[in-house]
Amino acid sequence: MALILPNHLTVKEGHLYIGKHDCVSLAEEYGTPLYVTDEERLRSNFTRYDEALKKHYPDVQLLYAAKANGNLTIMKIFASLGAGADVFSSGELHMALLAGMPPEKLLFNGSSKTREDLSLAVEKGVKVSLDSFDELRQLNEIAGEAGKIVEVSFRINPAIDVPTHPKIATGLATSKFGIKADQIVDAYRAAMECPNVVPVGMHCHIGSQILDVEPFAKAAEIMVRVAGEITDLGVRLSFIDIGGGLGIPYNHETEVAPTPQEYADAVVPVFLKGIQKLGIKPQLWVEPGRNLVGDTTVLLSKVNSVKTSHKKFVNIDAGFNLLLRPAMYDSYHEVIVANKADMERDTEYTVTGPICETGDIIAADRKLPRTEDGDIVAILDTGAYGYSMASQYNCRPRCPEVMVFGERSGIMRRGESVIDILNTMKKLPWHEK
Ligand SMILES: *Cc1c(COP(=O)(O)O)cnc(C)c1O
Repeated sequence: MALILPNHLTVKEGHLYIGKHDCVSLAEEYGTPLYVTDEERLRSNFTRYDEALKKHYPDVQLLYAAKANGNLTIMKIFASLGAGADVFSSGELHMALLAGMPPEKLLFNGSSKTREDLSLAVEKGVKVSLDSFDELRQLNEIAGEAGKIVEVSFRINPAIDVPTHPKIATGLATSKFGIKADQIVDAYRAAMECPNVVPVGMHCHIGSQILDVEPFAKAAEIMVRVAGEITDLGVRLSFIDIGGGLGIPYNHETEVAPTPQEYADAVVPVFLKGIQKLGIKPQLWVEPGRNLVGDTTVLLSKVNSVKTSHKKFVNIDAGFNLLLRPAMYDSYHEVIVANKADMERDTEYTVTGPICETGDIIAADRKLPRTEDGDIVAILDTGAYGYSMASQYNCRPRCPEVMVFGERSGIMRRGESVIDILNTMKKLPWHEK
């Protein structure tokens, strides 16, 4: 079966192209391993998502989930298109502000924030999504000491089972995230009693890589129902945040994903019906991560060796140090031999990384063209949770990230060196001669 490629990936004269760029030439110019992102695709993904929702309701705010890909260049592009961000740490908050996102479009999420995190949120004037009663008490104290009033939401656990990998289902009744249904009203009541905190929103996020719109519609229904209970308490809701989670097709032969329009068509009417019934007009916030960045990026890697053992292994120079998803979530990523992209895929290989772990497998039992050392493989759909989850395991410096835009290409993050790794290490005083 032929692979269905998104329109920024094409095959010309046997080579895989990203935008106008030959992946083989990029690998030669910048070296491997190498992340390459297409700026046009990034922009069109954002616009498509934004427009799909705004067709139903003009008062929509997209909050890009910064953890999916925290490169500052990418955050700046989204900022210029009007995005805010869902940030999950002080570091991500700094990045979002640096990218030019206004504080009022930022929501500081997290189930285990430090007092320093909360102080930063207070100082910068961003909204905080609270995940526990302890956090409410701490934030009220910190805001009080600073003489400020902080706008908050609670993360609500909608207790719904979603069809995705258990490690990325975040809205189950048993999840570590959010406030249980029977404690939500108490949480808002407690917030209303805090002099330095104002509850103005509601937040949920049911999980990631979800390929069905039904769970999102169900979550929206739960959110507007809870909005009724909260409004009855006297809370004036200025936003309802329904989280992110819309998946993308990783298997380009078999998987289909709902489009952002199909997502919007299923979810926004439920939200609208609910708020009309309550006579309120909150902003609708959504927090896509993967859907905006996932398919924009390929990871290019060189074949170091091919070995026939009990099966045929293709040993490449990128492993779970750079792309953790297959090892962490058993994820599927399409692999294309970029310099043999039009050749028949007639040989079965397992593509493995250079890390000293049996589990360092990027793709198992895949049909590829006859592959040899020096070939360049492209691992598709690595824009989300790729570089952002990369590590220096095995003392391997992280690779560069390149952006392409029309005819142009440039480095948006340089590769690290072993010196970068060494620079953080210190000699202990009692070991000095
Ligand atoms: C991870 C996350 C998102 C984004 O999830 P995607 O599946 O990448 O869209 C949104 N909101 C919160 C709170 C998250 O933790």
